[in-house]
Amino acid sequence: MARYTDAVCKLCRREGQKLFLKGARCYTDKCGVTRRAYAPGQHGQGRKKTSEYGLQLRAKQMTKRFYGVLESQFRGYYDLATRKEGKTGDELLAILESRLDNVVYRLGWGNSRAEARQLVVHGHFTVDGKRVDIPSYLTKPGEVISIKEKSRQSEKIKAVIEANSAHPIPKWLDINRDTLEGKIIALPTREDIDLAVDETLIVELYSK
Ligand code: SF4
Repeated sequence: MARYTDAVCKLCRREGQKLFLKGARCYTDKCGVTRRAYAPGQHGQGRKKTSEYGLQLRAKQMTKRFYGVLESQFRGYYDLATRKEGKTGDELLAILESRLDNVVYRLGWGNSRAEARQLVVHGHFTVDGKRVDIPSYLTKPGEVISIKEKSRQSEKIKAVIEANSAHPIPKWLDINRDTLEGKIIALPTREDIDLAVDETLIVELYSK
């Protein structure tokens, strides 16, 4: 499967905002967006005028990159969102937020979504007591995500938990830091999601 392998900070600079793809570094002065607040490449500081299509494309690319999702999967989430009752843009973001790798990241058990994804793939988490190693698993309200007993002894996991012990938890999730369990209270609403994107542009793009 094709994966982006170039410097991830370029993705943030291309979108003109922090996408928090590198963990702790994103909160320091070393952040690429802070240091070079213009798009990468030869023409990065050039013309800024963008067409309607360009705006729609950027909104889609930014959202894909924020969640680390490839095009075909993203399109699948959009199709799923159109079949739900709420606003398609809101439903799309709620689906993306409910991915297991995102939930693990939101619970502070990964320094970035990419790291959370890797930890999921390595089988460190359970959902309602059963091992789940699929990052795209869509969690549901009521489900309990937990770090596997054996994995709690891992130095890497201990370090991640320690580093994120003050990590703010969104209100649609609950965490018990003693038992290392996180619960999905409800699916997030648009207000709960900290991505500065106009999701209606994505809907416009795919509706053409
Ligand atoms: Fe993006 Fe983080 Fe790199 Fe800043 S440090 S540009 S937020 S990935």
